[in-house]
Amino acid sequence: MTVPPTRSVRVSRSICIGLLTVFAAACSESQPVSASLAIKGARVWTGDPAQPWAEAVAARGEDIIAVGTTAEIDELIGDKTQVIEANGGMLVPGFIDAHVHFLDGGSTIASVQLRDAESPQEFAQRIGDFVSNAEPGEWITGGTWDHMNWGGELPRRDWIDAVSTDNPVWVMRLDGHMGIGNSLALQLAGVDAETPDVPGGEIVRDSEGRPTGVLKDNAMRLIFSAVPEPTQKQLDGYLDAAMQYVVSNGVTSVHDMFDGGVGGWRSLETYRRAEANNALITRIYSITPLAEWQKLDDYVATNGRGTEWLRFGGVKGFMDGSLGSHTAAFLEPYTDTPDDSGFLLDPLDDLREWITGADAAGLQLNVHAIGDKAIRDLLDIYFDVAEANGPRDRRFRMEHAQHIHPDDVPRFGIQNVIASMQPYHAIDDGRWAEAVIGAERVQTTYAFRSLIESGARVAFGSDWYVAPASPLEGIYAAVTRRTLDDRNPDGWVPQEKITVEQALRAYTYEGAYASFEEDRKGMLKPGMLADMVLIDRDLTDIRPGTIREAQVLKTIVGGRVVFSR
Ligand SMILES: [Zn+2]
Repeated sequence: MTVPPTRSVRVSRSICIGLLTVFAAACSESQPVSASLAIKGARVWTGDPAQPWAEAVAARGEDIIAVGTTAEIDELIGDKTQVIEANGGMLVPGFIDAHVHFLDGGSTIASVQLRDAESPQEFAQRIGDFVSNAEPGEWITGGTWDHMNWGGELPRRDWIDAVSTDNPVWVMRLDGHMGIGNSLALQLAGVDAETPDVPGGEIVRDSEGRPTGVLKDNAMRLIFSAVPEPTQKQLDGYLDAAMQYVVSNGVTSVHDMFDGGVGGWRSLETYRRAEANNALITRIYSITPLAEWQKLDDYVATNGRGTEWLRFGGVKGFMDGSLGSHTAAFLEPYTDTPDDSGFLLDPLDDLREWITGADAAGLQLNVHAIGDKAIRDLLDIYFDVAEANGPRDRRFRMEHAQHIHPDDVPRFGIQNVIASMQPYHAIDDGRWAEAVIGAERVQTTYAFRSLIESGARVAFGSDWYVAPASPLEGIYAAVTRRTLDDRNPDGWVPQEKITVEQALRAYTYEGAYASFEEDRKGMLKPGMLADMVLIDRDLTDIRPGTIREAQVLKTIVGGRVVFSR
């Protein structure tokens, strides 16, 4: 799109033609139109194959009206135009984080910080410090600990009992697939040596059969019922904290995944209230539980599928657990626990029935699958359901798609299954995954490049609260595959590294496609929403190892600057 430089401040005929449907009212030859926002002097990566690079962008209201040279955009600047000088910074489409747990993430900002606790002593100490500022009897939740930080020994309730006897404590591992409670929390939840095992979960027990405090996957439900529900005021606060946090990282849209915690229907209602109050600064695709797909079907019949700020119409289900919790389902046993192959969380027949019903109702499927068995079973179900329900633009998604059997890599492209992946997990799990699943299986682990080259669509996200919601960290991870311990300076499984532009596309256009919104976002071109991020340096022009040092300078959502550094 170019604006003839000799014209005065008018929308050119070419813009009018391009934008007829959006801006018909603004397109008379005589009516001067100026931009409400202009960004100039940038390295603009548009994501648009027809015009990949530009210098400047103009927006009017919520939408982009022109992309071109700085001189061309100058023609659209009027008295009331807000002008941002980019000084050579990189402007890209607003990042879309295709997998977050938004309100849980917001709640972790306010809770005890355990992610970087490096020893059992530090883990207990931090909980003790937090408890000393809590009200007596108040539940301490959140946490996001990682026992891999101290060599893999699972925490025990007596570690926490030593620092908290009057406050029930229930803190989750950072992957959300197990948690640890102290003795008081277990007592309040009625979990003891007599409690029977839970299908699709595990009560970790000592040699005498007493619970150690760790509950995995479905067994965590035993505790969830005892933890008081957050109040609506708390949820509103979590949402606000979550939005402020993600915009500071350049994220303009999130896909919020139901995860059994705060997520689901209460999240959706919290977002609807915020939208009604014009309080959203992040666009949200709110995804509700698969098992309740009929409820969503009714909800969509009454409410439609939402707006450009808040969408719904997708359901989230789970095949299996996680690698770090040894609950991901594999075809062969774990390398470090040869009698254990993980497990599926729900009976396959139930999953098949729910997926068939949800798909027939026109809902989008977003199903978590991590181990190679879970991935294969889900691809099989998706194949059968597409056959049975007939052709439609359904955009099946597989969340995580972490450890793919080599035979199954091409199936994503062939079956049109979007791989919704989180590159930060690769440089996190890469520290220890080979010990857990062996050298052979890691070769197709986080197989970004193989998937993209085989024709699959790959959308990127963070899985926040599990990992930081920072696309710049994610791009660094996908491009370098340097594990967090820096033991793999040339990349862990380096053949699966991708380019900066491939990673940018996965964080922008592919995320838009994954929520059926590629006609409105994911690229910078006229007619698209003015969702943009200004970064302090051109990511394609720096050493990949320094990508994580780049900073977000401005985040713009719908033509409005919502974050400035
Ligand atoms: Zn997740």
